[in-house]
Amino acid sequence: MSETAAASSPAKAPYRRVLLKLSGEALMGEGAFGFDVATVERICADIAQVHAMGVQVNLVVGGGNIFRGAEIAASGVERANADYIGMLATVMNALTLQSVIERQGVPARVQSAIPMAPICEPYRRDLAIRHLEQGRVVIFAAGTGNPFFTTDTAAALRAVEMGCDAVLKGTQVDGVYSADPKHDAGARRYDTLTFSEVLAQDLRVMDTAAIALARDNRLPILVFSIHQPGAFAAVIGGSGRFTLIDDGGGCRG
Ligand code: UDP
Repeated sequence: MSETAAASSPAKAPYRRVLLKLSGEALMGEGAFGFDVATVERICADIAQVHAMGVQVNLVVGGGNIFRGAEIAASGVERANADYIGMLATVMNALTLQSVIERQGVPARVQSAIPMAPICEPYRRDLAIRHLEQGRVVIFAAGTGNPFFTTDTAAALRAVEMGCDAVLKGTQVDGVYSADPKHDAGARRYDTLTFSEVLAQDLRVMDTAAIALARDNRLPILVFSIHQPGAFAAVIGGSGRFTLIDDGGGCRG
């Protein structure tokens, strides 16, 4: 692993097709629930910027700004049902992002792992690839479609299925730290990490299943701040600030 406190860009790579994972929280702005319109518009402008660079963009969005299964299960709702409700929350977020992205002039389609024909397409890999090839952003909703999973795992799964060059995980901070930098002044920031280091140190950047899936399929993960306007394009362009998680060799060759 390598660590630094200074601005840097650990890797430059040409990206043809990527998947951006957004947590539901990213859509809340300073709020405590739901959407902050200005924040959603700014994130969608960032997505449109990357689309304009000629990169095929897939999205997976979480639902934590509306509903988290485990939290509601703790108050007595049966866990699988609570998780289904959580997956429905991700569909709300996906439909919101679709509308706002299209308002930016970029066509977008939502595909749900749980079919709900009147409002979006069911997940179909071949159709999703065709959408990308036709210049549309594809938003994958309802996670994996299975309870006891998270949208982090859905992001890794869809990225592998879609043949993405990388997963970009937009977070609250500009990379992976040894501890929460908002609460620990001594937290160290990593420029690069291997999948094994993330798992061994339990760094909690994505859940274990997502990291293992990425490792097994040699899918690089780039962790960056979604709150920095233009950061998504900067990371894709190779000049941004991010932590690269891979197998130590760029996952290539
Ligand atoms: N969820 C699920 N299976 C999945 C993805 C999500 O059951 O494959 C449920 C789970 O209850 C989770 C909720 O949907 O708490 C919202 O997803 P997540 O917590 O990953 O959202 P984020 O934290 O990224 O906003």
